[in-house]
Amino acid sequence: MKVLIVGGGGREHAIAWKLAQSSKVDKLYCAPGNAGIAEVAECIPVRAEDIDGICSFAAENKIDLTVIGPEVPLSLGIVDALAERGLAAFGPNRKCAQLEGSKAFTKAFLARHSIPTAGYREFSDLEELKKAVGIFGYPMVIKADGLAAGKGVVIAEDRETALNAIEQIMGDKVFGSAGDKVVVEEYLTGIEASVLCFVDRKTIVPMESAQDYKRIFDGDQGPNTGGMGTYSPSLIFDEKLEAQIRERILEPTLKGFQEDGLDFKGVLFIGLMITEEGPKVIEFNNRFGDPETQSVLPRMKSDLLDIMVAVTEDRLSEQTILWSDQKAVCVVMASGGYPGDYERAKEIKGLDSVDKDVLVFHSGTKRRSSSSVILTDGGRVLGVTALGSSHEEARQRAYCNVERISFEGAQYRNDIGRLNKR
Ligand code: AMP
Repeated sequence: MKVLIVGGGGREHAIAWKLAQSSKVDKLYCAPGNAGIAEVAECIPVRAEDIDGICSFAAENKIDLTVIGPEVPLSLGIVDALAERGLAAFGPNRKCAQLEGSKAFTKAFLARHSIPTAGYREFSDLEELKKAVGIFGYPMVIKADGLAAGKGVVIAEDRETALNAIEQIMGDKVFGSAGDKVVVEEYLTGIEASVLCFVDRKTIVPMESAQDYKRIFDGDQGPNTGGMGTYSPSLIFDEKLEAQIRERILEPTLKGFQEDGLDFKGVLFIGLMITEEGPKVIEFNNRFGDPETQSVLPRMKSDLLDIMVAVTEDRLSEQTILWSDQKAVCVVMASGGYPGDYERAKEIKGLDSVDKDVLVFHSGTKRRSSSSVILTDGGRVLGVTALGSSHEEARQRAYCNVERISFEGAQYRNDIGRLNKR
């Protein structure tokens, strides 16, 4: 089969690395890819958001399956556009993509199907919203309805901060039209966890669990980032919690999709808060999580292509997905200054000295033209994933290899996978 991956981050590198191992993949392309992906796939210079460009490439090259990594092309309807040309894609269509593209859509879905989540109200009018400040008490959870690159949620501790956030989101439109609507939620306390699931029209199958680290600094300090590391499996999950998640969230979600005519096919990433009353949904994402994917896929023993094709044909129930007992730890190396301003084009050294069985997934990297030098090209630069028979062994191996890689200003957390410190 000829397979095209859309995207160019660590998640897409992990997907490309895994798909490249399938005996059924004859040719792998990635649009636009990055310097690491270029080692396993042919990168083509088409942006992930260029729906026409991707559809034309897929049609001209007779691509058998297009795998969509990021959320933006999904929300723009890339799967529908490919389907119009008779081309198969792994990922939800535009209608289903609203589950990530609109918080109000998701809250209404959850409420309609009695799936546990925080109480909420939705607003389209700035004055109405201002009057409602503090309706659920403080902290006040304020969310821009649309996609805002993971930055559209404000947890305001007091009235002044809340009014400021509201003014910025709905008044000044700092996230553009994503702030036309705002969702205000009850604040949930508990432990956060996420579950990645494969979904087709008949079946929902959770993958192995992973835990991520959102804050930039050790000890969960500093601002939020796209994710500074992850380990798998997560230690929060036990049989009782897994059963609760299955019965209260996964099964009603699939039933809800069926009742609402949402033909979801792809990966559903469910952000959860494990509260005293049990698990509640914080958010849905439409795709593999990043960096969670970088610790989960290295533990998958089954052929990812088989699973993806089965999903597109509603045959997921026929698949047995096998996982390794090994533990995985992924440490993200980021540019100095991230998640604020950072410089690009720093030479990355030491990639050749990494152990053969340690995986280095590239996020923001590029090759200096006509040379073998790899340069930084983004906030998150690399994800270094190691496996081991225990979390501690995987952790030590990951860090031992991280220390061999360097670039000016490189920063990473030192406590990824250090379980007794969480
Ligand atoms: P979201 O983009 O909806 O996942 O929100 C981003 C982050 O905000 C989550 O990972 C949580 O840490 C936090 N958050 C979102 N909603 C709530 C809530 N209702 N209660 C407490 N924290 C929340």
